Amino acid sequence: MSGDGALALLRREGRIVIVGASLAGLRAAETLRKEGFTGSLTLIGDEPHEPYDRPPLSKQVLLGHATADRTALPRRLALDAHWRLGVAATGLDMAARRVRLADGDEVEYDRLLIATGVHARPWPHETEADLDGVFVLRTRDDAARLQRRLAASPRRVLVIGAGFTGSEIASACRERGLPVTVAERGAAPLVGALGGVIGRAAAELQREHGVDLRCGIMVTALEGDPVGRLRRAHLSDGTTIDTDIAVVSLGATRNTEWLAGSGLGAGPRGIACDAGCRAFDVRGIVTDDVFVAGDVARSPHALFGYQFLSLEHWGNAVAQAETAAHNMISSSSERRPHLWMPAFWSAQFGVNIKSVGVPSLGEEVIVAQGSLSDRRFTCVYGYQGRVIAAVTFDQTKWLEFYQRQIESAAPFPPDYPSVDRRPEGLRPVPAEFPDPSLPTHGPSVTVSGYSPTDQRITFVPAHA
Ligand SMILES: Cc1cc2nc3c(=O)[nH]c(=O)nc-3n(C[C@H](O)[C@H](O)[C@H](O)COP(=O)(O)OP(=O)(O)OC[C@H]3O[C@@H](n4cnc5c(N)ncnc54)[C@H](O)[C@@H]3O)c2cc1C
Repeated sequence: MSGDGALALLRREGRIVIVGASLAGLRAAETLRKEGFTGSLTLIGDEPHEPYDRPPLSKQVLLGHATADRTALPRRLALDAHWRLGVAATGLDMAARRVRLADGDEVEYDRLLIATGVHARPWPHETEADLDGVFVLRTRDDAARLQRRLAASPRRVLVIGAGFTGSEIASACRERGLPVTVAERGAAPLVGALGGVIGRAAAELQREHGVDLRCGIMVTALEGDPVGRLRRAHLSDGTTIDTDIAVVSLGATRNTEWLAGSGLGAGPRGIACDAGCRAFDVRGIVTDDVFVAGDVARSPHALFGYQFLSLEHWGNAVAQAETAAHNMISSSSERRPHLWMPAFWSAQFGVNIKSVGVPSLGEEVIVAQGSLSDRRFTCVYGYQGRVIAAVTFDQTKWLEFYQRQIESAAPFPPDYPSVDRRPEGLRPVPAEFPDPSLPTHGPSVTVSGYSPTDQRITFVPAHA
């Protein structure tokens, strides 16, 4: 049969399997149907719930303004799909085109989309992680449990890690009037994502809202009482904090363990794919029937030097899922690249934070509008003499303008006089991102060598 005939058959009678029944999985399924795929569609998800939205979990749900079971994602169209919920995919046989499931079943596919996202990195000491009062926040069930405990007026909440999720949790706790300590190993909140300049503004913001913020510090141990309830945390400066809730917000790990040994290029940093969302195998050769989308994917972006970007962004999951789905049922000449402009939002301590581009690539930053001390500003990031990202605190209106600047590789620093430029924004300053070569959470390993026989693993201990 000709290539065109095979594609028509795939579109009409093919079997498409999606592993990961959340935002990216759902949007991909909808796109497949919208683009005329009439074959069989199976969605496999290890959570028992139909796809729901995660951003409200650390915002409206923790505040008690919505319950966790009211976060279902809206459906854009009827799917006519087989839902296999509450059962994990445990293996992939690429040669036989089969996904193995935890219940022993196997599902065959002609095209596979992997959209398994990430899971919250747990507290590294298992017995301490099991103490009653130690939480992570990634799922609807996590949010429901944590919100119940917050509603019971704990003495104090300890948030470990001040990235976006940790900062949003601290914000929700303060809004509920709860005493909060935030322990952050870096120099400031949000420093890994936005750098030291905004990090300092974020630190002041937290303190103004009554957070007991401790930076440059690590939680070294969590201590329980005789019946297994958390009662105290020990810090690397020798101090202790009495608390009955600790929320571990140490970032996320890609859900790729189930692909071990499959021959797919999958690891702790995600699944690498080409710009058309086709996954690479371990040899670095692109597959033609396995696609990837959402938080679990790493894909090259033309605007950012073709670097492989891993983005844990809601908008990226949607856009990449739509592109992957389109490409799964298209001929090579009709396929398109995933060229979404990275964009993110967060709401914390009464401030609406938004970003476009990739701030963490920035070498320098300039306060292009407004003022850090007013907590109302636009920071623009530069990389190799061009605008690479912009972040606004309560100044969303500027984002679209800077998005165009990033898209057109406009020079950095911006050489035009802009409205509301203050003296502090006249000159760029270093963006102050932490050294990416230093491990941030616990020990890690590096691999060197080419062939399997001369590969070496080097253990890189965590820095205190
Ligand atoms: C608390 C919180 C707040 C957030 N706030 C924002 C925000 O303000 N702005 C923003 O842009 N983004 C935010 N995000 C990020 C956003 O929610 C994610 O980018 C988005 O959910 C990614 O969708 P996904 O479908 O790729 O992955 P996920 O939503 O992680 O879904 C993956 C699904 O696959 C399942 N799965 C994993 N392994 C298997 C397996 N082996 N078999 C079957 N199923 C499996 C998982 O359980 C999960 O259900 C937030 C995330 C969280 C957790």
